[in-house]
Parts: sequence; C-alpha cells; structure tokens
Amino acid sequence: MTRDPRYDILFEPVRIGPVVARNRFYQVPHCNGMGYRDASALAAMRGMKAEGGWAVVCTEMVEIHHTADVSPYVELRLWSDHDIPMLARIAEKVHEHGSLAGIELCHSGYTANNLWTREVPMAASPMPTASYFNDPIQARGMDKEDIRNLRRAHRKAALRSKQAGFDLVYVYAGHGLGIFQHFLSRATNFRTDEYGGSLENRARLLREVIEDTKDAVGDTCAVPVRIAMSEFIGSAGLEPAEVEDAIAMMAELPDLWDLSLSDWSKDSQTSRFSEEGFQEPYIKGVKKLTTKPVVGVGRYTSPDTMVRVIKQGIMDMIGAARPSIADPYLPNKIRDGRLEDIRECIGCNVCVTHDYTMTPLRCTQNPSMGEEWRRGWHPELIRPKEEDRHILVVGAGPSGLEAARALGQRGYQVTLADKASQPGGRVTRESRLPGLAAWARVRDWRLLQLDKLPNVSLYLESEMTPETVAELGADQVLVTTGAKWLRDLTGRHVVVPFHHPEACDVLTPDDLMAGRRPKAKDVVLFDDDHYYMGGVCAELLAKDGHQVTLVTPAAVASSFTKASLEQKAIQARLLKAGVKILANHAVVAIAEGHVTLECAYTGEASPLAAGSVVLVTARRPVDGLWQALAAAGLPATRAGDCLAPGTIAAAVHAGRRFAEEFGRPALDFLEIPFKREVTALS
Ligand code: ADP
Ligand code: SF4
Repeated sequence: MTRDPRYDILFEPVRIGPVVARNRFYQVPHCNGMGYRDASALAAMRGMKAEGGWAVVCTEMVEIHHTADVSPYVELRLWSDHDIPMLARIAEKVHEHGSLAGIELCHSGYTANNLWTREVPMAASPMPTASYFNDPIQARGMDKEDIRNLRRAHRKAALRSKQAGFDLVYVYAGHGLGIFQHFLSRATNFRTDEYGGSLENRARLLREVIEDTKDAVGDTCAVPVRIAMSEFIGSAGLEPAEVEDAIAMMAELPDLWDLSLSDWSKDSQTSRFSEEGFQEPYIKGVKKLTTKPVVGVGRYTSPDTMVRVIKQGIMDMIGAARPSIADPYLPNKIRDGRLEDIRECIGCNVCVTHDYTMTPLRCTQNPSMGEEWRRGWHPELIRPKEEDRHILVVGAGPSGLEAARALGQRGYQVTLADKASQPGGRVTRESRLPGLAAWARVRDWRLLQLDKLPNVSLYLESEMTPETVAELGADQVLVTTGAKWLRDLTGRHVVVPFHHPEACDVLTPDDLMAGRRPKAKDVVLFDDDHYYMGGVCAELLAKDGHQVTLVTPAAVASSFTKASLEQKAIQARLLKAGVKILANHAVVAIAEGHVTLECAYTGEASPLAAGSVVLVTARRPVDGLWQALAAAGLPATRAGDCLAPGTIAAAVHAGRRFAEEFGRPALDFLEIPFKREVTALS
C-alpha cells in the first residue's frame, strides 16, 4: 500500500543543528525500568523503535555523575568511561536502522537521593529531597565551586556521549527531575547570588550548560533542551509565560526545544484524565519565539492530528513516548498507508508503573515491549507454524483475542469462541466505566487484525462445555475464560470468607458493569484491590447520585495508582464528586443496614451505616471448563485471568506467550524461559 499524500508532511526531513532527521517522528526520552541493569534488552527495545520508523530515538534520563544517583530507580548511568560501551550499544542499535540516537543527560539535583552512592545530594538551594518514600534526607545548597563542577561533569558526559556515538546530546530541564529546571524555578531556587532572583539569573546555569555542551560536542551533535512549560503551582513556580520568556532569552542557543510539563504526572496524563493533544495549550506559544525545531508530546496516535499540529505551527516534530511503546511501527504504518494497523496507546500508564516498580517496561497494547531481546518477540512478526494444527481458544477477552490473533498470524487454524454476544471480555465491560473508553482499543485493534486472517473464526454466543469442546475435536484447547470479582469480602485484609445475610444488597464490579445498581442511596464501597477499579466504581456511583463512602485499608484511595501517576488526580476527582474516603479501615462484616469496620492499625471495630455495599476486593478464576477438560485428559491449557487474575496487560501478554511458545518443546520448570544479563565480576 502507499501512503496518503496528505501525510507526506510527516515524512519531510528535519534539520536539527548538525544532523538531519529523516522524518518528523521523534521518540522523546522515556524511562523503562531496565536501564543499566538490562542493557542489552534496553538497546534492543530502542532499536525496535528505529526499525519501526522513528527518525530520532532517545534514551531515558542518564545520570551524569555519582551525585545524580536516582536509585532505587533503574535508569542509565554515565558516571565514567566504564559506562560508555553500554550506551554505545544503544546508539548502535538505533543507527542500524538509519535513525538518530539521542541521549538525555541528567543531573537530578534534589530529586537524586544518592541512596546507592551515599553522596550528599546537591541542589540549587538547600531543601528536603523529593522522593516516593519521603526519605529522611536533605540536599545541600550548591556553592560556586559545585556549580563549576556540575558544568564540568555535564561537559564530560557530553564528550562521553559523543564517543558512544550519540547524535543528539540533551540538556535536561524537565519534569521537575532536571537540576537546570530547579535553578530556573523560583519554587526550588532561593539563591541570592547571580544564579538566583531574576529570571535572567535563574536561567544563567541553563544558558551556560547549553553553551558548554555546544562547545564540547556541537560540531557533530545536536543539542536539544527539554524544558518544563509549567509546574502547576501558579506563580510560586514555573508558568508558561515565564518559561516562554526564558526560551525567548535563549531562543537560538540550542538546536531543538523539547517541551514538557512538570511533574511527570502532569506530563504523562492518562486517558482517564486527558485527551490526545492535551499539552497543546501549554506549548503553542513557543514556535513563534524560535527558528529552531520544536517537539511536543500529548499521546498522539492519529496521523490527521499530527498533520494538524504541524500545519498549525504548534510543533515541528511529533514527540512520543507512549505511542511509540504501544506501536514501535507507528511511523512505518503511516508511511505504508496501513493506518488501521496502528496499535494505539490506550493511555493506561501500565508502562509507567514499571519504572516505578523498577522492573522491565511492559505495555497493555504491545505485549512484545521489553521482550524484544529477553524472549525474542517482535511487535509485528512471529515465526510461522511448524505443522498444521487446529486450536480452539475459549474466551475472547484480551488474552484469548491476542492468542487467537498471534496463532492466526503463525498460520494455524484457530476457532475462537465466546459465550458473550460481544467480544472483548473484561475490556469491553471495563471500557464502559467512566474515563476508560480508550481501553476498548485493546479489543478493537485485535478484532481488525482477526478480520484479515481467514484461518481464524470467531463465534459469539457460543458457550463451550466439555461436550462441545470434545465434539469440535481441536488438537489443542486454550482456555481464557477470565475471572469474577468475589462477593465474600476476601482479598488482602479479610482472609476467611464472610457470608452475608440474604437480605443485604451486596454488589461487585461485575454487577455494576452488567448494569445492576445498588438499591440504596447510601453505598459503602470496600476497596481492597487498590488499583483503578474501586475508584472508578465509586466515581460511577457518585455520578448516578449515590452517596458513596470508599473504605480502604490503605492510607489513600486507589493506592497502587501512585505508580501510574494517577493517584492524586483520582482522589481529587472522587472528593469533587462527593465521595467520602475512609482510609486505614477495612470492612470485615456486612449486616442489614450497616457494615462493621476494622481499623487497619488498632483492630478496633465500629459500625458504619450502609444501605448497599460494593465489594472490590479480589477475583477468582473462572476455570471450571479447564478443570473439566484437564480431568478428561484433553489437551487444554489455561491462560490470562483464568490462570491468575491480573492486569489487562498481563492477560494480553499471556495470550501472546501461548502463541509464541506453541509448538516448541515445553521447558523444564528449572529452565529460565528468557535471557538475562548477569553482571560481570570485576
Ligand atoms: P482475560 O482477561 O483473561 O482475557 P476476560 O474475563 O476478559 O479474560 O475474558 C473471558 C471471556 O471468556 C469472557 O468474554 C467470557 O464471556 C468468556 N467465557 C467464559 N466462560 C466461557 C465458556 N465456557 N465458553 C465461552 N466463553 C466463555
Ligand atoms: Fe500506552 Fe498503556 Fe502501553 Fe503505556 S502501557 S504505552 S499507556 S497502552
């Protein structure tokens, strides 16, 4: 297929200082939980973006010095020459496909706790460090010698980056994580010398470091600046007008302006809270200040929107982290006129949770993300079948859809059956909840792909029983029949099932998603799951006019969503909707008209009036069919939520894994099913 000429503009080359990007697709720096620990896996992941057509592919933040140690997070390091080969491998992988490699040099200032190095953190001004756990650490204010040393360290890191083969060497002042932003913002710079006070003074270090970097490597490397347009604390910190003034002062100094919001939760907003292009209001004033290329992000997945933002003069290159994770081949698909094949990011931030949990990146939409090197998976390709086989997949949720799609791609004959009248399983149900509509993309992309595979047949309203499975006579059965929310209070806090009196109105998320609603106006919702479901159900009920009390044994609502950067936004939305949040308590018993609460610390019991109760505690696999097939000795395997309930990302990955491994001899339990890199002893 050929591309639609209206997208030609996206494939124009862009000069960035001394280098030229072959098109306008720019993978901005993004974290991935692999960093220095999983160097080859990381290099392969970046290489895949280049293979898929991103003209610029950047690293995540790279610590330039041992006082910039952001452990326990696993990012990249460039503390000494020892680190160069690891970084060179990334640049090499990116170059293999004709793309430019960018490196985001970073000193994290008061956001580097130096937990590993035990160096005293340095900051523009003395202050407590910012960290997930509120560590009992304060940063010291930097003196003039520290500033000179920081400039030397940045210059050295730039030279090492050039040596490693990078084409773009960043100066990072974004996300509240780069020290040059800390100097720039009056929220973090209380200095009284020539580096504090007026905007010109606060911008001095940024200007000096841009000049240093240009001087060190600017002959062959482009020097982009990544800058935060707003800190969302009003005039106490950076606001677009002041940042524009700063940019105007240095407009032509860097080779590219890469615009973002601060902190990271504002920059990587989920689809529950923002639409594609949500950063445009903050960045649209910058292009008129500079002749240098401008890059911005905003979860762009639609080529028409990309064309619009370029034609409107909002940006010159389409920056993307998440859309490039969900689909490393996004540029090539637009180039080749294959728009329907674009795997659009759903904006769930599962990818981000793995930077926070310091584990390799993964993606709900793209199960091969992070597995390119470890398991040899490819986002677009899979090896052909070894021999003819007919595989029955029972359950067309995310797991079954992905398994059927990937098995179909391998060339097998696949029958996919679901008892529901609509495919998609939990994705279809959950996408009807407030703010989760974009999640349906997980289903829709897979259905479009299945449509192209004549060897895969989808049957809806087809409940499978051991008898109908046996009748079909497939060579292999994959059971992906999902899971159900529990109604007996058990989860993390309550371990012994509680059987409430018949008369009590007790619902689960499954009931709500099926359209049932609490009978009473006042509802107690017990969230012992701690991810998004409890908060989303509370939001739904509050919108329907219920008076909702969300009870959680945690200190905050939806506590795990701290890792998806959503927790504050969720709690704020619930409070604004009138939901009462009762933290540090669990529901331990349900009676007519009330529940019994237990304090998570003292164990003290107390009653709370509750006309109706919604339980969001845990799920149990729907694995009866698998049990029966296994007992009958039929070749059946289970995967996804039917094996162990988890995220949609885990279900998709499980479906893919079955398809990848089908036909290969089963590994012994003691064999590791993926590659890993073991540290070489010094
Ligand atoms: P996962 O997340 O693991 O993909 P889901 O709960 O999303 O699981 O999907 C499970 C799907 O299995 C649902 O669409 C459900 O209708 C279907 N299902 C469950 N039991 C049967 C059965 N016996 N026959 C056919 N389909 C079934
Ligand atoms: Fe997008 Fe979710 Fe994938 Fe992240 S995990 S890239 S937010 S689909």
